[in-house]
Amino acid sequence: ELGQRDESSDEQERRSRIFASAQERYYERPMQIERGWRHHLIDTTGRAYIDMVNNVTGLGHGHPGVADAVNRQIRILNTNSRFLYRELAEYSERLLALLPPGTGLDTVLLVNSGSEAVDLALRLAQAATGRRTIVSLREAYHGWTMASDAVTTSAYDNPYALESRPDWVHVADVPNEYRGTYRGPGTGSRYAADLGTDLAVLASEGRDAAGFICESVLGNAGGVRLPEGYLADAYARVRAAGGLCIADEVQVGFGRMGSTFWGFEQSGVVPDIVTIAKPMGNGFPIGGVITSQRIADALASQGQFFSSAGGNPLSCRVGIAVLDAMRDEGLQQNAAVVGERLRLGFEALAGRHTLIGPVHGTGLYLGVELVRDRGTLEPATAEAAAICERLRELGVVVLTTSERSNVLKVKPPLCLTAESADFVVAALDRVLTEGW
Ligand code: PMP
Repeated sequence: ELGQRDESSDEQERRSRIFASAQERYYERPMQIERGWRHHLIDTTGRAYIDMVNNVTGLGHGHPGVADAVNRQIRILNTNSRFLYRELAEYSERLLALLPPGTGLDTVLLVNSGSEAVDLALRLAQAATGRRTIVSLREAYHGWTMASDAVTTSAYDNPYALESRPDWVHVADVPNEYRGTYRGPGTGSRYAADLGTDLAVLASEGRDAAGFICESVLGNAGGVRLPEGYLADAYARVRAAGGLCIADEVQVGFGRMGSTFWGFEQSGVVPDIVTIAKPMGNGFPIGGVITSQRIADALASQGQFFSSAGGNPLSCRVGIAVLDAMRDEGLQQNAAVVGERLRLGFEALAGRHTLIGPVHGTGLYLGVELVRDRGTLEPATAEAAAICERLRELGVVVLTTSERSNVLKVKPPLCLTAESADFVVAALDRVLTEGW
């Protein structure tokens, strides 16, 4: 019962009996979460936390519009997608209307998760080009299924693939202007030129690229924005080589950037295939691929495409309710305003605490990179973990990301308030001042 006792140790023991060791968990003594409301999580002792990491519940926890949509639709109809029903068409049209005009992205395929969306995107690229090779960037996370895991290159998420990666994947250098091969502004064209060299080598080996996949902002690295000009140059080179460009927007799309709805709009490009998931259902499992009819039709060469629950009336109604709430509650605009406030707050802290290196990201996808030395960029990994533990004691849920686990990832529900943003900055200031 709420407030009676801390059940988290019992629950942790129960969990270790039942789950695999590879299943991720956070904190030395995880709290047991019982309830969520807007950008707050509440544990079984009644303690509330500000949730700074839940980018799946984009609208916030416990959203009544989503709850009503589920309740209404599940009483009316929920079946698989072999029939005609209006929810699928309505939701697909709503999604397409979110794309900038004239993109040629006019077809939606719905699945149940981001990994499935990435799998399908890779299949589409291979089917449409008649080629096999997929180029993926270093330090990326794209999912857990066999194909999405094959293009997952982060040593943290997929250490084994260093030796056993399938031969249809080529890993290109990650354009991280803060700590990558080339540093500083103006390096986008150098990274793109290196990608061009990779594409030429692949062609000379008879392994021409079917597609190039990357996050439009490097989410897994901590919200690191791509260098100026990189994506446009990279896409041009991939297309010149006959390949297709896949934007993985599972994390960075859907209004989180604040100034744009999609991550790729930050770079002024238009992908051939877009993958979406996480916030689409505000926690309800939905994923999707948006592409052109020509590319989607190529799937016919591989037989029928069918996903039992993908695009069912229930998930479509949830998806519509999410889009309604995003519009009615002005959440993209809130991401822009509160995100900027938060970013300025973190940057001000960087002026006082040398442990803070670059502050990455935009809107409500930010990354506070912690380094022991601003010159060498030695990652402050142990410090980052300890700071997260202490922040939790102070009522703020923040976790680490990047291959080095030294970036505080900040991707809260888009309804985060200015007051809570200020609280988080003040809490981080306190931890960095007092120690941890
Ligand atoms: N792509 C990206 C960029 C992701 O961050 C994730 C999930 N973290 C996925 C794909 C996979 O999504 P899911 O967990 O819904 O399968």
